[in-house]
Amino acid sequence: MTVIQCISPIDGSVFAERPALPLDAARDVVARAKKAQKSWAKRPLEERVQLVLKGVARLNEMVDEVVPELAWQMGRPVRYGGEFRGFNERSNYVATIAADALAPLIIEESGSFERRIEREAHGVVFVIAPWNYPYMTAINTIAPALMAGNTVIIKHASQTILVGERMVRAFSEAGVPEDVFQNIFLDHATTSALIAKKSFDFINFTGSVEGGRSIERAAAGTFTPLGLELGGKDPGYVMEDADLDAAVDTLMDGATFNSGQCCCGIERIYVHESLYDAFVEKSVAWVSNYKLGNPLDTETTLGPMAHKRFAATVRAQIADAVAKGAKALVNPKLFPADDGGAYVAPQVLVDVDHSMEFMREETFGPAVGIMKVKSDEEALSLMNDSKYGLTASLWTKDAERAGRIGREIETGTVFMNRADYLDPALCWTGVKETGRGGSLSVIGFQNLTRPKSYHLKKVTA
Ligand code: NAP
Repeated sequence: MTVIQCISPIDGSVFAERPALPLDAARDVVARAKKAQKSWAKRPLEERVQLVLKGVARLNEMVDEVVPELAWQMGRPVRYGGEFRGFNERSNYVATIAADALAPLIIEESGSFERRIEREAHGVVFVIAPWNYPYMTAINTIAPALMAGNTVIIKHASQTILVGERMVRAFSEAGVPEDVFQNIFLDHATTSALIAKKSFDFINFTGSVEGGRSIERAAAGTFTPLGLELGGKDPGYVMEDADLDAAVDTLMDGATFNSGQCCCGIERIYVHESLYDAFVEKSVAWVSNYKLGNPLDTETTLGPMAHKRFAATVRAQIADAVAKGAKALVNPKLFPADDGGAYVAPQVLVDVDHSMEFMREETFGPAVGIMKVKSDEEALSLMNDSKYGLTASLWTKDAERAGRIGREIETGTVFMNRADYLDPALCWTGVKETGRGGSLSVIGFQNLTRPKSYHLKKVTA
């Protein structure tokens, strides 16, 4: 029997473990989800929406357990209070648009014809979730999928093994029927085997590019629709007319919050030469204010990374860049909690270039590279010199210029004067190796349903 373990980044102890389900038992879970789906979809939309919102509310009541449990699982400092703000905002927003997003598209209603396109739930939706924002990333699919009449099975990351279990408990206590939303503990082989047997009608995978490739391979030939929300290397570009302090504040927060473990975290910054020196100086001062330490301590503002193997990647990328000529500007002595393991001091690198892995591969840690640029053309070519494309953050007072540059950037979202935020009214999507599909917004509902056309000719004689 395979046991899935969460090793806490706080102290390297085993915080939680659960036995992985064998294939036969996992298939039973899927069978129950299939059986429950038709009657769930027949309930009025408003009833499904309200049950989901009650589940969200029930989870909010668990805040005192959720917040320290998150800190133990993935290291987020308790002072940030979990993920409730975004979790609630997204759930509430999709609830307000559900009726319109799922309404039939009426083409004709006349004495002769009724022609319309209705939206129908896919069936069983499988959510494979990552540990970095374990509640927020999962709710992006779970809330609209359930509202649209799908049943949902969630498999959470080993690092945040308790999150799926807790969400299901909250929803079930709120009245969502047991088989409509189920948690499942699975190893990779069983996950792939289930997918290959066409167990699901839609799969949302949020995680690494390599993980996404495995899921796509497992699904090959089954025609199962996939939403793939994968890695990023998001750029910021600070133009000469930018509000410097606001740019430093938002971009450095975007680069380092959650120990830099954000899919849309800022990983590389290009600054116009006229602001470069000031931007670098202020950025180093900004990150030097962090207090790195035990996330259970309310004074801690920067926790450990989720696992020491993730920290090892960050350290290796920085070391490689420095060996190739980069300069690391943050004094490590300011961060005595940096233990060479999961606790990583923030870092700002200059004299970097795109020959370095640090500027090309996802770092997913509290470190960022800053380069000087002379023009929009140079910044654009550097921003697009990446295999990823999730968001890009432009800093200027000129919205027209941002729009013009934005149209040339290979990315899913263009921000002006903000970064690292998911607006639930907009489609969350990526290009290139960042994946395909889109969640949240009206488009998220469309992706979690399929169109069904009605072409009804009336007999008038
Ligand atoms: P990950 O290692 O790919 O894991 C994501 C999920 O997929 C986990 O539940 C994991 O389970 C599972 N998984 C991975 N490989 C699998 C396989 N071969 N077969 C079956 N299941 C598999 O990613 P992560 O480290 O959790 O998350 C960080 C990554 O997610 C970063 O690259 C980040 O950019 C990306 N991300 C993207 C977005 C976005 O919106 N684009 C949002 C958040 C995160 P186990 O944990 O049990 O291995």
